[in-house]
Amino acid sequence: MARKNREEVASWDVEPEPVLCPMCERVIPDDQKDAHHLVPKSKGGKKTVCLHRICHYQIHAIFTDSQLAKKFSTIEAILEDPAVQKFVAWVKGKHPSFSASAKEPRQAFGSGRGRKQ
Ligand SMILES: [Zn+2]
Ligand SMILES: [Zn+2]
Repeated sequence: MARKNREEVASWDVEPEPVLCPMCERVIPDDQKDAHHLVPKSKGGKKTVCLHRICHYQIHAIFTDSQLAKKFSTIEAILEDPAVQKFVAWVKGKHPSFSASAKEPRQAFGSGRGRKQ
């Protein structure tokens, strides 16, 4: 019999906490979440932070793995770099789900059903 009904209803109330990107301080949509190793995995790092894919990509475009391991193993250090500051200032003006690679892999849109007006 249906005796777990109540639990299922209760879980609807719980909204997932928005995750903020420590780089640009905007909310990270689920499909833009990317884990960055503060010390690169290749250098034995384990700790990760959650960033926008585009912010993450930018870190690796600016720094090499050895630079990250030696000098830029914290978000604070990364944010002090002028190239990063320039990027952050630019990306802050974009929509949170903006991504430079303009692919939208999961757009289940317009399957021919009537739209509400
Ligand atoms: Zn990374
Ligand atoms: Zn970001």
